[in-house]
Amino acid sequence: MSTSLRFKVVEEAFDRKAIPVETPAERPDAYYAENVFNRQQMFRYLPRKTYEALIHAIENRVPISRSLADGVAEGMKRWAIDKGARHYTHWFHPLTDGTAEKHDAFVEHDGKGGVVEEFAGKLLVQQEPDASSFPNGGIRNTFEARGYSAWDISSPAFIIDQTLCIPTIFISYTGESLDYKTPLLRALNAVDKAAAGVARYFDPEVKHVKSFLGWEQEYFLVDEALYSARPDLALTGRTLMGHESAKNQQLEDHYFGAIPSRVEAFMLDLEIQCHRLGIPAKTRHNEVAPNQFELAPIYEETNLANDHNLLLMSVMSEVARRHNFRVLFHEKPFAGINGSGKHNNWSLGTDTGTQLFAPGKTPEDNLQFITFVVNVMAAVHKHNALLKASIMSATNAHRLGANEAPPAIISIFTGSQLAEILDTIENSTPEDMASLSKKSGYSIGLAQIPELMIDNTDRNRTSPFAFTGNRFEFRAVGSSANCASAMIALNAAVADQLADFKTKIDARIAAGEVLKDALLAELRVLIKESKAIHFDGNGYSEEWRLEAERRGLDCETSAPKIFDAYLKESSVEMFARTGVFTRVELEARNEVKWEMYTKKIQIEARVLGDLAINHIIPVATRYQSMLVDNVVKLKTLFSGEKGYRIVEHDLDTIEKISRHMSVIKSKVDEMVQARKDANAIADERSKALAYHDTVVPPMEVIRYHIDKLELMVDNEMWPLPKYRELLFIR
Ligand code: ADP
Ligand code: MG
Repeated sequence: MSTSLRFKVVEEAFDRKAIPVETPAERPDAYYAENVFNRQQMFRYLPRKTYEALIHAIENRVPISRSLADGVAEGMKRWAIDKGARHYTHWFHPLTDGTAEKHDAFVEHDGKGGVVEEFAGKLLVQQEPDASSFPNGGIRNTFEARGYSAWDISSPAFIIDQTLCIPTIFISYTGESLDYKTPLLRALNAVDKAAAGVARYFDPEVKHVKSFLGWEQEYFLVDEALYSARPDLALTGRTLMGHESAKNQQLEDHYFGAIPSRVEAFMLDLEIQCHRLGIPAKTRHNEVAPNQFELAPIYEETNLANDHNLLLMSVMSEVARRHNFRVLFHEKPFAGINGSGKHNNWSLGTDTGTQLFAPGKTPEDNLQFITFVVNVMAAVHKHNALLKASIMSATNAHRLGANEAPPAIISIFTGSQLAEILDTIENSTPEDMASLSKKSGYSIGLAQIPELMIDNTDRNRTSPFAFTGNRFEFRAVGSSANCASAMIALNAAVADQLADFKTKIDARIAAGEVLKDALLAELRVLIKESKAIHFDGNGYSEEWRLEAERRGLDCETSAPKIFDAYLKESSVEMFARTGVFTRVELEARNEVKWEMYTKKIQIEARVLGDLAINHIIPVATRYQSMLVDNVVKLKTLFSGEKGYRIVEHDLDTIEKISRHMSVIKSKVDEMVQARKDANAIADERSKALAYHDTVVPPMEVIRYHIDKLELMVDNEMWPLPKYRELLFIR
C-alpha cells in the first residue's frame, strides 16, 4: 500500500456516518424469538400427540423414535417455509473456532419431472456431513471414516438468513465425539445426576439439577477500511505490529463513556437480531480499552446459553459488516491495551427452584449452600491444572498473565465474609455443630449468611474464578473461545466431586451418623484439603506466583504444556467416571489442540515475515535513502566541522534505521529457519512446543524493532494504519 492509500482509508473511516437502523414498530416482546421453533411454535405446528411426546422427550432426556421425528420434521418444515426459509442445515460445533453448517434445499424430485418441498424425519435426526475436513485428532482415521450429526432436542431450531438451522451433536460412527456439544451434554448430564443426589439430602423432591451459564462477551470494533489495510488483522485477528498510541486507555475515559453513534446503531441492530433469535441480550457497554465493548445476555441453561453465544458471535460479525465494522473476538488484538475475555457466570439450580450457590434464609438452607460452594472449591482445587487447560489457546495465551486479565494460575476468590464462614466451619467443634442441630446455627456462622452476602460487592478483578454472591464467575475464559470447553471441564469436575462427596456422606450415615454431622465433618475435611485454591489477594503480583507455586497450584505458562493436564491420570479418570470423555477422545482432542496451536503461530509468523520484509523494510529503506540524499547535499553546502554538525542528527537516524533493519532481517531468517525445523517434527506436541519455544521469541523481537521504526520513519510513508487510527471510532 502506498502512502496515499493509508491516508485514504483513514479518511474514509473517519468520514463515515452512522447507518440508520430499521427498528421494528412493535415492542421487543412482539418479535422476541420469532425466528425460533420454540414451544409456542411447536404447539402451533405439531399435532397434539406429537407435541406432547416431543416435550416429554426433551424434559426427560429420552431419545425420540423415527415416527415421532417424522411428525416433528413435518411441522418444523411447515413453520420454516411459512417463515420464508428455503434451506435447512445441521448446525454443529466442530473443534475449530465457530460453527459449521452445510445447507440443503427443501426440495426433492416429485417423480414427475418437478420438485416437492421435502424434509423427512430422518433428515432431521441424523445426517452425515463430510467431516473429514474437520479436526478430529486421528479418530476418523483410526476408527471409522464416517461421522454423523444428530439433532440435540434440548436446543431449539432457528432460522437465520432463510435457512433452518438444527442444533446437532457431531460424532464418529464408533461414538467418539468430534465436537464441543457432545461432551458438554455428557458433562451436564453428569452434574445433573451428582448434584441432584446431594441436593436430595436437603429436599427429597429434587429430581434434576440444571447448570446455568451467563456469559459476558467482550469484543473490539474496527472500521472496515482500516481493517482491510492491515493484513495482520485480516489474516490473524490481531495486530502483529504497531506502536502504542500516545493516548489509549490511560485516562479511563472509554469505560461506561458515551457510545459513539456509529457503534450505537450497530448495537441496536445487533440487539434486534438477537431478540428475534431468542438470545436474551440485555447489557451493553463500553469496556476499558478504546473501541472495546461488551454484550451480556440474561443467563440460561448452559447448553442453550452456549448455542446462543456461538450464534451471537456469527450474527455479530454479520451485523458489524452492515455497519462497516469488523468485529474482533481475538483475546489480544492490540498490544499495550486490555484484551478481551468472556466471563462465564456459572451456577447450579434445582428443578424445585433452589439456586444452589445462593445463601438461604435458614441455617439448613445455608448448610446446603456451603455444601455446594465447598464442593466446587474442592473440584477446582483438584483440577486446577485441567481448568486452566480448558481455557488455554494460542490466542488466550496473550491475555492471561498480562496485567489486565487473570494470571495463568487458577485460584478462587471468595470474599472475606464467605472466607470467615469457611474458617469457622473448619475450626468448629462437635459442640458448635450441635448448635446447628438446635436450629440456631449461630456459632458456625450459618445463620447470618443472607445478611452478609447481600453486600458481597468487593469484586476482585484479578481473580480467574470468583464467587460473586449467588454464582461463580470463571473469568479466565477467552473472548474467542467456545464456552463449552470451560463448561465441560468445570461441570464434569464438580459432578465427580459431588459424587465422591455423596459416597462419603452415605457411608457415614450408614455408620449411624446424623446427616448434619456427617455433612459438616466432610465439609471440614474438604475445606482443609482445598485451602490452597482460596486466594483473595492481588493475582497480578509476583508474590502470588511464588506463593501459588509453594501451594502446589499449577503455574505452567507454556500453552502446549498446559494442554498436558487433559492427559493427567486424575483427569482421564475423572472424565471416565463422569462418562464425559474416554482416553481415546482425550488423546485425539489434545492432538487437535496442539495442531491448532501450531497452525495459529505458523500463520502469524508467515504474515509477520511478509509484512516485515515486503512492507516495512522497503519503506524504511526508502526513508533512509532520503536521509542519505539529504546528507550528501548538505555536505556539498557545508564542509568540515560545521558540515559534520549539521548532518550529525541525520547520520544518527540513518545508522539507527540500519541497526533496526538488520535485526529485523536476521530475526526473520531465524524465525523462518525455526519454522522449517519445527515443521519437520512429526509429533504434534513436540511440534507445538517447538513453535512456542523457537518461533514465538524471534517474532517478539521483530515486532519490537518494527515498532521502533514506526516512530522514526516519515508518517506519510508508513504503510499500515497506526494504533491511533485503528483505535478511535469517530
Ligand atoms: P458484571 O460485569 O458485573 O460481572 P454483568 O451484569 O455484566 O455483571 O454480567 C453478569 C452475568 O451474569 C449476566 O450474563 C447474568 O445473566 C449472569 N448471571 C446472573 N446471575 C446468574 C446465575 N445465578 N447463574 C448464572 N449466571 C448468572
Ligand atoms: Mg462479570
